[in-house]
Amino acid sequence: MSSSPLAYRRVLLKVSGEALMGGEDYGIDPKVIGRLADEVIEAQKAGAEVGVVIGGGNIFRGAGLAAGGMDRVTGDQMGMLATVINALAMQDALEKRGARVRVMSAIKINDVCEDYIRRRAIRHLEKGRIGIFAAGTGNPFFTTDSGAALRAIEIGADLLLKATKVDGVYDADPKKFPDAKRYDRLTYDEVLGQGLEVMDTAAFALARDSDLPLRIFDMSQPGVLLRILRGENIGTLVQGRA
Ligand code: UDP
Repeated sequence: MSSSPLAYRRVLLKVSGEALMGGEDYGIDPKVIGRLADEVIEAQKAGAEVGVVIGGGNIFRGAGLAAGGMDRVTGDQMGMLATVINALAMQDALEKRGARVRVMSAIKINDVCEDYIRRRAIRHLEKGRIGIFAAGTGNPFFTTDSGAALRAIEIGADLLLKATKVDGVYDADPKKFPDAKRYDRLTYDEVLGQGLEVMDTAAFALARDSDLPLRIFDMSQPGVLLRILRGENIGTLVQGRA
């Protein structure tokens, strides 16, 4: 929408699978996914085009399965399918609230959702549908952070939003070091130079090479997504060189 008062027109939101567990230690807490759906719908109604990538860590992670003796590629395939499960739950939560949604998977699984096709994904967003991009990159040995960076670049997102439990990037773990300093803004080079943890290396390299701005923020406060889209400086922004 050209008359949108938003600072960002098209965004990609990455939420970890773990975030969906809420207080549980496995699976999906309906309250948590419902709240996430409310946030996304609020942003979309305000005029933003919103793509979503959800992880699978609440169900399976390939690395964890491999540590238990499973073949890594099989484990990663299970992890990718876990992200499809989460995407379907998110689709349901969004549709229950009246939103129009398409789940698009990097792994062909046509009976449950569409295949990811870039031009079609962009078209869905242009038509006011929320796009949920499932199954990460479709390849083992990657994470959904990489899937999120890849999809954000492919769809021409203005910003990749990474929702976490922490309210930004710190110079040390704020749970262990209460005097840890939170950054408002960082360049890609500062993140690399100081060895800060923002996203995994492959995801970060993708974002940096394409100058894709990243915002790391805490999703727990209601209304935060829309406030960010309106240009509020919440969490940590990673953008620019040197
Ligand atoms: N995965 C993969 N390729 C991808 C994305 C994900 O193999 O492109 C697998 C991998 O095993 C990963 C799991 O899916 O551990 C779940 O994704 P992730 O760990 O990123 O979920 P999150 O930590 O965000 O919940």
